[in-house]
This record gives sequence, structure tokens and C-alpha cells, in this order.
Amino acid sequence: MKSTNNTEHWDVIIVGGGIMGCSAAFYAARAGLRVLLFERDTAGSAQSGRNLGFVRQQGRDVREVPLAMAAIRLWQDLEQDLGRDLGWLQGGNIALATSGADMETQEAWQKDAQGYGLDTQLLGKAETHATLPGLAPEAGVMGAMFTASDGRAEPARATRAFLEAAIDHGAEVIAGQLVSKLDTTAGRATGVWSAGRLYRAKAVICAAGAKSAALLRPLGLTLPQEVIRATVAKTEPLKAAFEHCVSCPMTGMRQAADGSLHLSVAGGEYDVRPDSLRYASWYMKVRKEQPDASRINYLSPLRALLSRTAPPPLADIPPTRDCVPPNPARIDQALTEAARFFPAFANLRVRASWAGYIDTLPDMIPAIGTVSKTGGLLVATGFSGHGFGLGPMVGSILAQVIQGQQPDIDIGHFSPERFG
Ligand SMILES: Cc1cc2nc3c(=O)[nH]c(=O)nc-3n(C[C@H](O)[C@H](O)[C@H](O)COP(=O)(O)OP(=O)(O)OC[C@H]3O[C@@H](n4cnc5c(N)ncnc54)[C@H](O)[C@@H]3O)c2cc1C
Repeated sequence: MKSTNNTEHWDVIIVGGGIMGCSAAFYAARAGLRVLLFERDTAGSAQSGRNLGFVRQQGRDVREVPLAMAAIRLWQDLEQDLGRDLGWLQGGNIALATSGADMETQEAWQKDAQGYGLDTQLLGKAETHATLPGLAPEAGVMGAMFTASDGRAEPARATRAFLEAAIDHGAEVIAGQLVSKLDTTAGRATGVWSAGRLYRAKAVICAAGAKSAALLRPLGLTLPQEVIRATVAKTEPLKAAFEHCVSCPMTGMRQAADGSLHLSVAGGEYDVRPDSLRYASWYMKVRKEQPDASRINYLSPLRALLSRTAPPPLADIPPTRDCVPPNPARIDQALTEAARFFPAFANLRVRASWAGYIDTLPDMIPAIGTVSKTGGLLVATGFSGHGFGLGPMVGSILAQVIQGQQPDIDIGHFSPERFG
């Protein structure tokens, strides 16, 4: 690697312009730190601009609940804090129960959540139909779990808003250029290498989504990170308001700020790549238990080789260099289930579709925090398909840790070193 005469020095360099990197940039710059953020493509071009936009506390691993509750408190004032419209609506989140087993799971989860003071309620059949008047009586819904304080926001808009507000506070950004290596000296993170130049900083945050494991591996940190290609479809605008985020057995749906319905089936395709072999043993169990939610696609290397860049869909989706086409079968699956539960959605036309690579860790909770053998390094990655809602609080915590403060929420469960 070429050396450099670049003596510029930042307090923190952030790798990745997803919601984690951009929110960390905002809170750090607002606190007066000199911030430089690198984004390989454009802000929100990976998961953060392509997700379904659920901002939920409900149904999470209980270790994430305090973080999710703190995040909701931030979301409530975020449009004002950032000075930008994020499409935020606190319309509640409903997960439908269609079996006795679903009801039992929801009951157990609600009990745990109550311990944290969350407002989650269990609804009976009649209450569920009263809350969702369009729900088909013959769909077999037995009840639901409902959290009124959950909400939704526009993913790409929110991610961009954080970055723009960070820039307002003096953050600097290099977009369209990737970080090739994290730099360390005597056991400390000292900067990053990009386009043959060393950019120096007192601290480095690795928030590179699905690319984090590869950047961290040379530093001796093992993160068995997998990627799942998940598909989203956007319909024509709905005729009436649909304010809740709703989870049917397999399909999540929410109305976007432009009136359209966004739908996505849980799970997706494991596109085979070299790291799939490296980390295969970590994922045996989930693949066995949920074969449909995690199909292995052995042809993906060929597709990546042959594909041309797809035109951006008719939606606010920042383009990416990744070859990440939507799966038409997942769109059919989502539309079929939506129509079964909400007959009014039966003839909705799909206006656009896209996919995104979800980065997962085997225990489905993120890696957030410092790394004992590399001082000055912070990691925020592996959000396993539910990081958008957490993003503001994670950024705020990263900014606190960089300043040597005790984070508002204990992040001990999320140690990046827990995989050895
Ligand atoms: C289809 C789909 C639906 C989802 N639905 C929801 C939902 O409803 N609610 C929810 O809470 N979560 C949801 N998620 C998950 C959520 O989107 C992610 O957990 C979250 O966006 C992760 O943010 P991030 O900043 O960690 O990663 P990313 O958004 O992936 O950002 C990482 C960034 O790093 C950049 N980068 C990578 N390598 C480098 C490098 N070497 N140099 C510079 N830049 C680099 C990438 O280009 C990317 O922009 C969904 C995800 C998908 C794909």
C-alpha cells in the first residue's frame, strides 16, 4: 500500500453511510467532534435505504428491548432534531396470531416486555378485527400483539437526513470511494486506507454493514457475518389510510408516506459467496429450522458475473454497486398473503420492487461496541434485519463512547468479541 503525506487528522472516521454510520456522524459532529465519513456508493444505498421502514420495539430479542425503547424516544423528536421530514408516523405495530402456538409466543413475549415497561398489549380476535377493519373474517386470525408506541419512517430519507444534518454540523464526507483497509499502530486504530491514501483519526467506527466482517478480519476479529437477499415490493397508492405496520405470518406491510403499500416476506435468499463456506457451520441450525426463509442460491456468483447494473426502481432507492435483484417469487408470495388477510389489497398493482442484502449474525443480535485488542476501534454491524429502527440510538451511543462517556443504554450483550 502506498504511503501518504496526508497529515489531516480527524477525531473519528466512520466507515459506511448506512443509518448507523450517518447517525453516529450526526451525534458526533453535533457534539463538536471532527468527523469524516466514507461511503462506498451513496448514503443509504445498502440496507438502510432499502428496508421496509418498520420502527419497532415489538417482537425483538429481549436483549434489544431497552435499546429499541430508547430509539423510539429519539424517533419521536427526530424530525425536529434533524430539521427534516422523515415520513415518521407513530401508528403502532400489529403482529397477527393465526395459531395457538403464535398466541403462546406472543403471550410470553408480552410478559417479558412488560418487565421493561413497554406498552405492548395482547388483542383478542374481536379486538384485532376492530383495530384492523379490513382484515378478512375468514383469514383465521385468532388474535394479535399490538404496540401502539411503535412507528414507521422512510428509510432512504431518514438515512440521508442524518448525513445532511451531520454535514450541517461540520462533518466531512467522501462518497463513491471505499475504504480498503483499517489502519492500526501498536494495537490502536489509527485511521483508514482509501484509494491508496491513509486518512488518520483518533478513533474509527466500522459500520460497513455486510462488508464489516471482511474489514475487521485482518485485525483478528471474528464476525461470522452472512448476507440474505430480501425483496420488497411497492404498490400503487392505497385508497384509504393504513396507519399500522402489520406482520402477517410471513409478510410485513406498511403504508409509505406517498400512500403506496410496501410489502416484504420475512427471510430471503442466501447468495453463495466465499464467506458462506467460511461461516457455514454457524448457520446450519437456522437453515434446517427455516428452509423457506433462508434458501441457498448457488447460482449467485454466475449472476453477479453476467448482470448489468439494473435501473433504479420507481422508488426512493439509492443505487448500489451490488448485484442485488428482487426475487419475483417473493413478491408473489407477499401479494398472495396480503390479499388473503386484506381482500382490499387483492388487485393492487406493483409499481416497483427492489432487494437489499441483510447482514446477519448467528445469534440475530448486533455487534456494537469496542474491541479490547484494538484501542480506538468501534464496531456497529450485524443488525440481522432489524437495525433501521435502532439506528438513531446506536449512533447516539457510538458518539458517547467515542467521547469516553458511559452510554445511556448498556450494550454489554452486543460485544463484537462474543464469537471468539
Ligand atoms: C429488505 C429489507 C427489509 C428490512 N426491514 C427492516 C425494517 O422494517 N425495520 C428495521 O428496523 N430494519 C429493517 N431491515 C434491516 C435494516 O435495514 C438494517 O439492519 C440497517 O439498515 C443496517 O444499517 P447499517 O448502517 O448497519 O448497514 P447498511 O445500511 O448496509 O450500511 C452500510 C454502508 O457501508 C457502506 N460500505 C460497505 N463497505 C464499505 C467500505 N469498504 N468503504 C466505505 N463504505 C462501505 C455500504 O455501501 C453501505 O452504505 C431491513 C433490511 C432489508 C434489506
